[in-house]
This record gives sequence, structure tokens and C-alpha cells, in this order.
Amino acid sequence: MTKNGILCETLDKRVFLDPKNSHVNGINFVSHAHSDHLPSKNGGTILSSIETNEIANLRGFKMQNHVEFLENFSLIDSGHILGAKGLLFDDIFYTGDICTRNRGFLKGAQIPKCKTLITECTFGLPEFVFPKIEEILKQVNELISELYSKGIPVILMGYQLGKAQTITQLFGHWGPLYFHDSVKAMNSLHQKFGVPLNDGIGHSEAQKSGLLEKKPWIMVAPMLPAKNKFVQEMKSRYGAVTIGFSGWAQSSRFSFGRRTDYSFPMSDHCDFNELVEMVVNSGAEQVYTIHGFVEEFAVHLRKLGINAHPLVENSLDDFT
Ligand SMILES: [Zn+2]
Ligand SMILES: [Zn+2]
Repeated sequence: MTKNGILCETLDKRVFLDPKNSHVNGINFVSHAHSDHLPSKNGGTILSSIETNEIANLRGFKMQNHVEFLENFSLIDSGHILGAKGLLFDDIFYTGDICTRNRGFLKGAQIPKCKTLITECTFGLPEFVFPKIEEILKQVNELISELYSKGIPVILMGYQLGKAQTITQLFGHWGPLYFHDSVKAMNSLHQKFGVPLNDGIGHSEAQKSGLLEKKPWIMVAPMLPAKNKFVQEMKSRYGAVTIGFSGWAQSSRFSFGRRTDYSFPMSDHCDFNELVEMVVNSGAEQVYTIHGFVEEFAVHLRKLGINAHPLVENSLDDFT
């Protein structure tokens, strides 16, 4: 681990995994287009899926020297968001952000066999075990139905990239359907890549043409704090109720659930059991944990007899 992210050095190559700045001298793998994984500067060769490249573009980062294929490197679907990949090379598998559960248009990741596994563990604590997607669908549909019967509009909230599209697909059968403008742009890009999403009108246009006065309606919006001006306006003018979706809603120790009127634990990451299952299935002899509960998860794996350690920054770091 370097200040610039993870560096794997082999005899003939240097591979940076989700580096902060893409390095001139090496191969830079960008697993997906969430902002904590996108490099902020160009340099060297950037390896990522075409979807990641285009989403990055939409988010204002133009990748130079971008390639989709490279000899001896396999990009493996990680099931996290559209275009998200893990990287398999030299018996090493790097997960990026990963989810092995099917959700809407996203199919759960299939884990390749490897000797060394570098895995995220965002939800690497036993308290994070998520309910089945069918259970969440049932509960949310019932809640929306109840609110609709009282004429109350509903705002469904999740990260602008990833969760918002899944929510659109899972609950877009409710209508009339509106989108926060930022979600609409991201949904359009997903549609371009063939993801079937119902169309809806952006919030500015809907508001201008007085459509929001006709209640109830449903809107998909990014995760916004309760104090946000947009949220406040939707609540005071239209009496809208907010429903948030995030894995953090599973635990009462985190404040997520208090940000929206209702919250449901739906995540684009593996839960604890899925993480353990993934590690076991990979057959890895050596596991390095990154992101999230790196210590706790490594300790748990060692109890299962798996050689696991958090990846920590090393001081012999000349590569930033
Ligand atoms: Zn991510
Ligand atoms: Zn991430």
C-alpha cells in the first residue's frame, strides 16, 4: 500500500489498483467510477471497462490512454455498479468494490480462484447481514402503497451512481415517476448501455410545469441530508416523505437511518456473510483486507484458518 493506493510489483510490471493519481510509469486499474476510486490525474495506461470510462466522463474526468483489454489481465464483473470490475492477474484477484447478490439489472459477482485475494470489507462486521432483496421489495412496495393511499408523494434516495438506478428499476412501476436532475443524467447513460429503466421527467421541469402539485408521485433522488434545500422544499411544498437505501441502515450505531423518514438496508456491497463466502470460494492462500473494518474482518478470517491481514501503507514508498 502506497500513498497513491495499492501497488503490485512483479518482475516485469507495475500495477496500480485504484490509484489516487494515475501513475506515468505503470498500468493503472480503475475498478469503477465512484469518486473514491477515480484517479484525479492522468498518467500511464488506464485500464477499466468502457462503462467506467464513460461514467467518469459524465462526472468530469476524462481518462487518457484508456484501454479495455490488456494481455494477461482479466477484468471480472464485480456486481457493484454498472461497469464495475475486479482484476485478475498473476494469481492475484483484486475485488474493487464487490457484491455477490443479484439486485435488479446487476448480477452478483462470480469469484475466480486465486492465490492472493485483495478484498474490500466495507461491511466486514457480523452485524451487517442484509435481508433478502425480495423482503425489501415487499416492505417498500407496501410502504409506498400506504403513503399513496393518503396522497403523499414519496422520494426514494440512494447514491446518484448505482443505487439510484437500482431503485429506479425496482420501483419505477410506481408513477408518475420523476427524477432529481442529477439522477436523470446518470439514468440516461445507463439506458444508453442497454439497462432497461422507465423514463421520467427531471425535477426542474416537473416543478416548472406544475406537475408536482398533482399528488401523489414518486421521485428518485441522490442521498441528500435532511437539511438540504431541495429536500426541505419537497417536504414543505408537497409534503413528500423520504425513503433512504443503504447498507448502513442495517446498524443503529450509524446515523444513516436518521437522515430520511424511512430507511432500508439495501447495499451495492457484500454483507458480512457474503464477504466470508467469497473469500472461502476464492481458495486464496493469502488475503489482504482494504476499506472498512479491515482489522476486524482479518481477525475473523484468521479464526477460520485463513491467512489474512489488513493492507497498510508501507514506508518504503517512492511512488506517489
Ligand atoms: Zn463503489
Ligand atoms: Zn468504494
